[in-house]
Amino acid sequence: MILILEPNAGQESTEYKVLTGQLDRLPGISYRVHREVGAEVTLTEIYLIGNTAALTLEQMQVLPCVEKAVRVSEAYRVLGRHKQGDDRPSSFEYNGVKFGQDSLNVFAGLCAVDSPESVAEMMKALRDNGQVCTRMGAYKPRTNPYAFQGFGAKCLPYVFELAGKYGIKVISMEVTHESHVDEIRAALQATGKPTGVMLQIGTRNTQNFELLKLVGKQQEFPVLIKRGFGITLDESLNAAEYLASEGNRKVIFCLRGMKTNMGDPHRNFVDFSHVPAVKRLTRMPVGIDPSHSVGSRSAAPDGILDLFHVAAQGVVAGANMVLVDFHPNPEKALVDGPQALLISELPHFLEDIALARQAYLQRAALAARHRATQ
Ligand code: PEP
Ligand code: MN
Repeated sequence: MILILEPNAGQESTEYKVLTGQLDRLPGISYRVHREVGAEVTLTEIYLIGNTAALTLEQMQVLPCVEKAVRVSEAYRVLGRHKQGDDRPSSFEYNGVKFGQDSLNVFAGLCAVDSPESVAEMMKALRDNGQVCTRMGAYKPRTNPYAFQGFGAKCLPYVFELAGKYGIKVISMEVTHESHVDEIRAALQATGKPTGVMLQIGTRNTQNFELLKLVGKQQEFPVLIKRGFGITLDESLNAAEYLASEGNRKVIFCLRGMKTNMGDPHRNFVDFSHVPAVKRLTRMPVGIDPSHSVGSRSAAPDGILDLFHVAAQGVVAGANMVLVDFHPNPEKALVDGPQALLISELPHFLEDIALARQAYLQRAALAARHRATQ
C-alpha cells in the first residue's frame, strides 16, 4: 500500500510524527519513505511493506498528513500504475523540458562522439530545427574489446560547451560505471552547467543491479533505461523499478528491439507494439530507439527507410521519446555508421514524426469520442 501525503508535509511536524508513530505500531508492517523535493512542493510517499491486506484504505486515509492511500496492484510499486485511484503523475520536468506519457521528445544525435566538428554540426542542425534534446555517446560498451570504446571524460567539456552554445538542454548519455556519473557531474560543474544530462542505461546493463542502485540513488540526473535485449518485459520493468526504489523516479523506459534472428533482416526484432503495454503497466514515459532496432538504412519500395517506418509505428502507438542516430558523415562514424541518418535527413525525419504524432493524437481523440458514447 502507498500513502500519498499532503504536499509539503514536513517531517518535523507533530502530525508527521503522530503518523510515523502509528505506522511503527502496525504489526508485521515496515515502511519506506520517498521524498521528491521540487521547486515549489515537496511530495512524500510512504510505501508500506508486509501484511497490508489486513489494512483498509479508509483506515489509512484518516491518518494525519495522509491525502490518499493506494493499494499496490502491480509488482512495480513505485513506477507501476495501480488499479485503484492511482493518479500519481506520469511526467517529470528536467532542465526546463517536460517528459511524460502525454508528450513527445526527439533525441536525435551521435551514437558516439568522435570529434568536436561532428558534435557542432549535429547540434547546429538540431538548433536550426527547433530541437533542444540530443543523444551523445561518450562511453561505448562494445562487443569487441579492440573496438573504439568512446572518448569518455575527454570529450565531455566540448560536448557540454557546444550544447550550451546551441541551446541543447538535455543530452542522453550512456554510463556503464559509477565513475562515469562522477565524471559527467564534474565536467558539467567545470563548464558552468551549460546543459543537462539524462543518464542512459544500455541494454547490456539493464540487469546490472549494482549500477541501477547507484544511478537510482542520485536524483540530480533523470535516467533513460533501455529494455534488456534478451529478457522478458517484466524483467526489464523490474530493472526500471530498481532505479525508483532507490529514490530516482525520473525514469524513461526505452524499447530498442530484441536480439533474435526472428527479426531478420533487422538488427533486432522491433518491439514497439509494447509502447501501449508499458504505458498501461507503469507511469513511465516510453521511448523507442529505431536505430538500434533496425540497424541499417534499408528502404521499402515506397522509398521510405525502414528506420522511418518503425519510428512512425512507435509514435503512432503513443511513444513519448524517439532516440535516433544521426551522423554528418556515416562512412567515417566510429560506431554504428550503417544505421546513421544523414544530417540533411533531419528535417524530413522530424516532419515524418510530426505526422505520426498527429495521427496518434487523432486516434486518442477518436477513442475518447467513442468511449463517451458507450
Ligand atoms: C545506444 O543507444 O548507444 C546503445 C548502445 O543502445 P543499446 O544499449 O540499446 O544497444
Ligand atoms: Mn549504437
